[in-house]
Amino acid sequence: MNLDHILNKEELSKEEIVFLLSPGNEEKDEKLFKRADEVRLKYCGNDVHLRGIIELSNFCEQNCIYCGLREENKELTRYRMKPEEIIETAHTIRKLGIFTIVLQSGEDHYFDTDMIAYVIYQIKQKVDVAITLSLGERGLDEYRAWRISGADRYLLKHETANSKLYSIYHNQQRFEDRLEHLKFLKSVGYQIGSGNMIGLPLQTLEDIADDILLCKELELDMAAFGPFIPSPYTPYQNKQAGSVDLTLRTMAIARIVLKRVHIPATTALATLDEDGRIKGLNAGANIVMPDLTPSPYREQYQIYPDRKCIDENPLNCKGCLQLQIESIGRKISESRGDSLKMKDKIEL
Ligand code: SF4
Repeated sequence: MNLDHILNKEELSKEEIVFLLSPGNEEKDEKLFKRADEVRLKYCGNDVHLRGIIELSNFCEQNCIYCGLREENKELTRYRMKPEEIIETAHTIRKLGIFTIVLQSGEDHYFDTDMIAYVIYQIKQKVDVAITLSLGERGLDEYRAWRISGADRYLLKHETANSKLYSIYHNQQRFEDRLEHLKFLKSVGYQIGSGNMIGLPLQTLEDIADDILLCKELELDMAAFGPFIPSPYTPYQNKQAGSVDLTLRTMAIARIVLKRVHIPATTALATLDEDGRIKGLNAGANIVMPDLTPSPYREQYQIYPDRKCIDENPLNCKGCLQLQIESIGRKISESRGDSLKMKDKIEL
């Protein structure tokens, strides 16, 4: 296959994506990342949007095989933030000059429809921010109620487009349900985010190519690709972590294929590689999602161990990220960073 020809095509086939994902030489990756950076500049500009994450509960009723929050992990100290603590943290994040709040947790029905609706409503009453929910698979009526309360976006990763692998990784959930939920979320007006995990056991390059193509089919507003990191007290604790290089190639190809979409440089990538955030931003990413959960909770949200920046004071996060982002000639956005597809519609 001719690399230069493929990189300049508008549409890529599955075979071409697999070719780009395959390990090659340094020159091949350099050309791929350069092309992704050009596409990022054309469709997203130089702004990097920050999404401030509040991890409101580490309880989870699911048992995803790779995740440290799985219900069967009895070694984890569990916590739930109080609604007023969450609302206050959201205000602090907005004061830092961050315009999106991500409310994230395991699947925890203790936070019922009304409680989440109350938190969303109270945050939106007091500060002008976008709210992303990342609360796992919940009821369709709940999604609708939270949208009416003011939630703007929903992040629900599909993790793998291979339904056989999906049932191995999530023995209590069905791939078909995940797709149905994502489509429902879009139908009731959420900007939707999804994505996969790179390097899970049994995953092939063909699976990753299918993941990218599924993101396209779903017309996502945000697509996230992070490396798998083994977590203690899970069945995958002794497995090998995902590859940083393969994750970067996936992000770059996703940028070229999906074009007008937000792509984060994930914390998992920064955890595996000291320069992971910068490498991600140079390979097509335009989003950074700092964890701004207050202590002592942040240390206990152990999806995987030794998360990047976990010992830092969240109040210092923005300044630190600003230095990193400006060092590569980019700047932190001063807007909410809504869907690039919405912008498209407005411009039309
Ligand atoms: S991945 Fe999400 S749903 Fe699965 S166990 Fe972890 S927190 Fe729960």
